[in-house]
Amino acid sequence: MNETKSTCPYCGTGCGLIIEHDGQRIFNVRGDPDHPANHGRLCTKGATLHLTVAPETAGLRTTLPQLRTGKNTARQTMAWPAALDHAAQRFAEVIRDHGADAVAFYISGQLLTEDYYVFNKLARGLVGTNNIDSNSRLCMSSAVMGYKLTLGADSVPCAYEDIDAADCLLIAGANTAYAHPIVFRRIEDARAARAGLKLIVVDPRRTDTAAAADLHLALQPGSDIALYQAMLHVLLQEKLVDRDYIHQHTEGFVALEAAAREMSPAVAAGICGLKASDIVTAARWFGAADSASLSLWCQGLNQSATGSHNSAALIQLHLATGKIGRPGCGPFSLTGQPNAMGGREAGAMATLLPGHRDLADADDRAEVARLWDIDALPDKPGLSAVELFDALGRGEIKALWIAGTNPAQSLPDSQRVQQALAACEFVVVQDIYQDTETTPYADLLLPAAGWGEKEGTVTNSERCISRVRAALPPPGQALPDWRIAADFALALGRYLGREEQAQRLFPYTCAEEVFNEHRETTRGRDLDIGGLSYGLLEQRGPQQWPFPVGATSGQVRLYGDGRFPTPNGRARFIVPVVEGVAEAPDARHPYQLNTGRLRDQWHGMSRTGNVPRLFSHAPEPQLDMHPDDMARHGLKNQDLVRVANPRGSFVAKARASEAMAPGQVFMPMHWGGRFMAGAGVNGVTLPRFDPLSRQPELKHCAVTLEKLQNL
Ligand code: SF4
Repeated sequence: MNETKSTCPYCGTGCGLIIEHDGQRIFNVRGDPDHPANHGRLCTKGATLHLTVAPETAGLRTTLPQLRTGKNTARQTMAWPAALDHAAQRFAEVIRDHGADAVAFYISGQLLTEDYYVFNKLARGLVGTNNIDSNSRLCMSSAVMGYKLTLGADSVPCAYEDIDAADCLLIAGANTAYAHPIVFRRIEDARAARAGLKLIVVDPRRTDTAAAADLHLALQPGSDIALYQAMLHVLLQEKLVDRDYIHQHTEGFVALEAAAREMSPAVAAGICGLKASDIVTAARWFGAADSASLSLWCQGLNQSATGSHNSAALIQLHLATGKIGRPGCGPFSLTGQPNAMGGREAGAMATLLPGHRDLADADDRAEVARLWDIDALPDKPGLSAVELFDALGRGEIKALWIAGTNPAQSLPDSQRVQQALAACEFVVVQDIYQDTETTPYADLLLPAAGWGEKEGTVTNSERCISRVRAALPPPGQALPDWRIAADFALALGRYLGREEQAQRLFPYTCAEEVFNEHRETTRGRDLDIGGLSYGLLEQRGPQQWPFPVGATSGQVRLYGDGRFPTPNGRARFIVPVVEGVAEAPDARHPYQLNTGRLRDQWHGMSRTGNVPRLFSHAPEPQLDMHPDDMARHGLKNQDLVRVANPRGSFVAKARASEAMAPGQVFMPMHWGGRFMAGAGVNGVTLPRFDPLSRQPELKHCAVTLEKLQNL
């Protein structure tokens, strides 16, 4: 039996694991006791990873390239060179006839940093378009913007060990018990070890996380900013703000203070549907003098048309109280995906560039062009996820490359996305599985290596870079994602008449060479990993960034010296705007649909859906409703109900739940049209997005309910 250390490919907790295998088959996985994220623990998803690889899922995998020559013809298998040649020819034709911005790449937080890096270089360095975005846009771009607006950079200042040192934990818009189970176990441990530790959970639903809290603030969807402004109001009233810290290390507090003084707990209570006294209690616990407060947040704040300001409003509570940069303190955004953070580092998103640079910054563009030894980077803004598929629907994008993600299931207003995919002239899908909601639209389906079959790195929520290692060869002719992107680039170079340039840009023979080049783009930046290498990660295990040349360890937390990466070194306060949800309920669509995750499923279930054991927790999609709403519609548990709005509909079984507030219903986000009657949950969700972060408001939309006759 062999043992190979690697990292879990599911959530942003980034647990280390040990793969037990014989080189041909994985028999078991267990938690890596040496990994700082999990210290040997795994949740149900991580512990069943061996059931998601060969031979258990052999028939489900893509193993050879498959091409169809007409939209209504069946795909035929073919060899890699011919497949990539065909793709290159089609992309080159589009670029020649319509310009570089007529092609686009939509990639994934499931990819490794090395994959991200090569795709980014392909789009911007060879093709010459900024039309590259990632499904990470759907999960954390509002947190990124919240950090940039206030702290000046996309740098999570905290670490998991801050959970152990906190006196108050504020979890906002996150069902950590389900979505980041090992983080939640650490929280449970901290509470068991420290009797006075207070847990506040802000969530419209009484989730398992909320049920464990000392104080559950079941606010109305879309009222987050009012709550945090009211907490600041209390902190001001009770002199719990740190005036010295504000004076020495921040700017812009005067305007924020004036706005917060208008938002009394009584006013906020009306907006949020909370008791004013609970808001006061939360503020007192959070702001208690000489105590440490840590806030953790995720999609409830991020997946909102005001997500950037939601995040900023929470971050500002830390700046106003000086609870940042020291043990147990800070605003800690939890990333949803295993490598959403790595994608940010590699800059493979429409608005970013490698090394935490910004596309909008001419100096940043020039610096990347110099690093890549090309004349210039394109400066036209790229299209973010929702915009990209809108452009596809309008016929402006004529060739699309999708890697490691399932947009026909996961994007809001999914039927519109499906129509856009169906109309696109040439769609390439690079995936490990044959059948997702997206693969039927693939003109060319390319087999990718999956977890346990590829080498690279990922970065988790606490900036910790871990190695991902191969234990098995990929099935058939599947290849690592970065290798597919690089081989395509070489073929495209030939068709574009830039063969020499492509060979110079994509010389890689292994993932380590890609990592080493990525590392060079970080030197001197806030995320500097100049001192890291595969060898060092092998020797010393996972490391947090920054880790510059000469460092002996990564940096646990940031901003301990009160200096921030802004032009004058001061953090910035902004005045967040209270707007509410983007689609308020009305007489025709009186219910607010809230979407979220189950404990044992992952995204669109392409992987977890193949493990029968993972359905024991929730065997089928159910719509959770308040018992009064059930009674109003004459519904009993298990009755079928159609959930609809003008964008689409889906059918699910109703379930009475005291966790729900009247007027709100909840549906897990995992089930797409493949698995349920109707369009799937995202058939009804709203494509409206935050203008700053461009993250769509997947969390809420207005729907109507109709009882159906049971079959
Ligand atoms: Fe994997 Fe997340 Fe579970 Fe850890 S908590 S085992 S990273 S799914």
